[in-house]
Amino acid sequence: MKILVLNSGSSSIKFKVFRKEGLKPLASGMIERIGEETGRVRFRRVDAIEAGEGEERSLSVPDHRKGFAIMQQVLKQAGVIAGSRDLYGIGHRVVHGGERFREPVVITPEVVKTIRDLVPLAPLHNPSNLAGIEVALEYAAGVPQVAVFDTAFHQGMPEHAFIYALPLDLYHRHHVRRYGFHGTSHRYVAREAAAYLGRPLESLNMITLHLGNGASAAAIEKGRCVETSMGMTPLEGLVMGTRSGDLDPAIVFYLARVTGKGLDELDHLLNHQSGLAGLCGENDMREVERRMQEGDARAALALEVFCHRLKKYIGAYLAVLGRVDCMVFTGGIGENSTLVRLKACEGLSALGIEIDPERNGCRSPGIKEIHSQGSATKVLVVPTNEELEIARQTLKKVSEARAQRMGAAPAGRAVPDPRRTK
Ligand code: ADP
Repeated sequence: MKILVLNSGSSSIKFKVFRKEGLKPLASGMIERIGEETGRVRFRRVDAIEAGEGEERSLSVPDHRKGFAIMQQVLKQAGVIAGSRDLYGIGHRVVHGGERFREPVVITPEVVKTIRDLVPLAPLHNPSNLAGIEVALEYAAGVPQVAVFDTAFHQGMPEHAFIYALPLDLYHRHHVRRYGFHGTSHRYVAREAAAYLGRPLESLNMITLHLGNGASAAAIEKGRCVETSMGMTPLEGLVMGTRSGDLDPAIVFYLARVTGKGLDELDHLLNHQSGLAGLCGENDMREVERRMQEGDARAALALEVFCHRLKKYIGAYLAVLGRVDCMVFTGGIGENSTLVRLKACEGLSALGIEIDPERNGCRSPGIKEIHSQGSATKVLVVPTNEELEIARQTLKKVSEARAQRMGAAPAGRAVPDPRRTK
């Protein structure tokens, strides 16, 4: 049987199919430009990727319902999923689980309602995630479905880490608090790092750095997230491709006064025109580095600001955790930028973090160690794989639900992780 993982956005549905046994990836694809004049379908079987083959075509995709139907058809034609009976479960990425969801859940009508109730907290993401869930429930009726939340891993944070110093009433009445995002990736790389080091996750203190277009850091104490850099929304924290990260909030009032911009315009400015893009006009780190190497001063400044903020968070999380056994770089930038890793760790040897430039520069696939021999903290590069983590969680939740229904296993018993080797 198969597990289908869906990431439904406002104008796209990304999908990946895994074989249930061993969670081997079989195929992946994307329905893009939903609702635009012409949509696009991209699809590849894993065995065809190796052969460099793939399918890409344009066609009309007016809405998510049609998008889902096209995906089903493509998967059927390719012989990947014959039909709903071939599916063990469907896992959905859901951005915001609020305080209600501390872990993945099997989707029920109540769960759908709660995700809808949480729309005010994530107005850009939860509605499209819900659209994916609703069409999947309709087109694959009877297949167990699981919601995996970006916020869930951070729900372990202590109160003093998630409460803003605002009138407390705003938390109780309007849910204003820090939630954190990228939780699926932080959880995944933390577990992978622990398995790589051959140590139980519960025995390790870690800093995980997810550096992609969006970027966030997490402090993980014995497997539990105790701090993370994103806040009530993904805007807080590190410098990102187009987001400012941390700011003096009074800048917003000042800009409203001096520029006359309204709230929506300022929201757009901070989320889409700031970060690397705001500093040097380019949000792609590869391009920023290329321009910097050609002597572009704005690109050099953007890189310095990015790395300085990152270093500040590393220092803060060292203080929060007291002892850090392992630090992990992941995401497109974390996995690939030798320079960002080097700059972020520069001058931290007195704090126990030291990178070996040669190991850092080595371009090998998979997990790699980049710390120097004398470094008290191990520094790893761990490729993230959010789809695989969603597939794992889906397998676990569906298996638990089945076992519970059949009375074959006590409730809450975990299904062994098929990828765990140590
Ligand atoms: P998303 O958050 O959209 O999933 P990714 O994790 O794919 O993003 O990361 C995208 C970022 O990774 C971009 O800024 C891109 O420039 C950067 N990146 C990818 N490869 C490299 C590289 N070789 N060197 C530096 N940055 C890279």
